[in-house]
Amino acid sequence: MADKKFVLAGVMGWPVGHSRSPLLHNHWLKKYKLNGAYVLLPVQPGRLTDAVRGLGALGFAGCNVTLPHKVEAMALMDSVAPMARKIGAINTVVVQPDGSLHGTNNDGFGYIASLLEAHPAWHADAGPIAVLGAGGAARAVLVALAERGAKDIRLLNRTDTKALELAAELGAPVTALPWDVRHDALANVAMLVNTTSQGMHGNPALDLDLHTLPRDALVSDIIYVPLETPLLAQARARGNPTVNGLGMLMNQARPAFEAWFGVMPDITPELRQAMETSVRA
Ligand code: NAP
Repeated sequence: MADKKFVLAGVMGWPVGHSRSPLLHNHWLKKYKLNGAYVLLPVQPGRLTDAVRGLGALGFAGCNVTLPHKVEAMALMDSVAPMARKIGAINTVVVQPDGSLHGTNNDGFGYIASLLEAHPAWHADAGPIAVLGAGGAARAVLVALAERGAKDIRLLNRTDTKALELAAELGAPVTALPWDVRHDALANVAMLVNTTSQGMHGNPALDLDLHTLPRDALVSDIIYVPLETPLLAQARARGNPTVNGLGMLMNQARPAFEAWFGVMPDITPELRQAMETSVRA
């Protein structure tokens, strides 16, 4: 073992103790018999620059970046992937062989992969898509859906100005609609996406009436605690196909693991089970 390089990676955030990423990456390290570890990196606001600059010296191949550091970290990179630049935030740092830092954002990749995993025939241009929420996660979802060929995305956010600003920034196919019309904006959509925090454990359910939603529309909620949000339960009860947020979380981790440890890992039924158990705990 002594001559084999020990590779470190981790997740920087504040707070970060709730992160499921160590479970995921350490499972893969064990499965592929790699010599390394993935650790929690609690980095207080204000200490991000020191923490990121220290990665290479500490023997880290890189790290994930989560709230509240995703936007600020992008400015500390030596290079940034085009997708991350478009999203406006990074979620992964890769320490390059020359010590420089490369930032990527794999949330959009993870999101699309999760849809295809659950519904292999899904395609982005099947019809209009309604996206609720205009926060950080929405940016990744919107950019990924647009890149995947979506033709018509209706963006609705509780704070209307944020939806208007984001739609103006991203341009076609994203158009903003007022939050007040959200119940009726679901008419003739092929897909509904919740990227708000409503329905997450500890938060009230999303205030949304599904009466105009076609019964064959795919309903996607990127929340994964709980695995079935009130929105997904309601959609399932009326016959809509659904996808929860766990697949997005697991799939965004795959390209990061490959960049740090050199193996593109698989999501096996055993891993999914372990993640579901951890979410339910
Ligand atoms: P964020 O940047 O704080 O955005 C929160 C969004 O929720 C905003 O659009 C906000 O609207 C909306 N919101 C908050 N309270 C609301 C209310 N009472 N009614 C309606 N809308 C409300 O958070 P984020 O990083 O985008 O994360 C959003 C959710 O996505 C979280 O639940 C997070 O766990 C989940 N997520 C999942 C994954 C995954 O891998 N599955 C990845 C990232 C995030 P305003 O603009 O009006 O405040």
